[in-house]
Amino acid sequence: MTPLPLSTRACGSCTACCTVKRIVELALPQWTRCPHECAAGCNVYAARPPTCRAYNCSWLLGDIPGDERQRPDRLGLIFDVVDEGCGAQSLVAWEVWPGASYDRGPARLLAALRQQATVTLIPHVTDTGGSCRES
Ligand code: SF4
Ligand code: SF4
Repeated sequence: MTPLPLSTRACGSCTACCTVKRIVELALPQWTRCPHECAAGCNVYAARPPTCRAYNCSWLLGDIPGDERQRPDRLGLIFDVVDEGCGAQSLVAWEVWPGASYDRGPARLLAALRQQATVTLIPHVTDTGGSCRES
């Protein structure tokens, strides 16, 4: 797998976090598709809430190895780094769609990351707004 230069990592057409993550300002629970998602990404981009402005997944930040296939909407997992205190960190992996972590690519990545860090998998538990999986 050819590592993607970090400077080229961009959300592009990915909107996985707009469905998977809780957006407190919009009262959106986890795994609920944001009503502002649109073909271009976000129809209120200039006025998007602070939670959206502040969020960068670990793939975007360069903390997850790999190329564009690891982008959350393609991989099926969103990773976040969690500060455990005293300099320790762990990873949280959120399934983007049900069962995503069982696919071969995500399963292999999880196994590799678990050689280096504690990884907590958060299974997809509900889907109220349809899948954001890239077709
Ligand atoms: S999941 Fe990551 S790559 Fe996808 S839109 Fe959110 S921040 Fe960008
Ligand atoms: S407001 Fe825009 S950036 Fe924020 S979750 Fe909704 S679609 Fe995504």
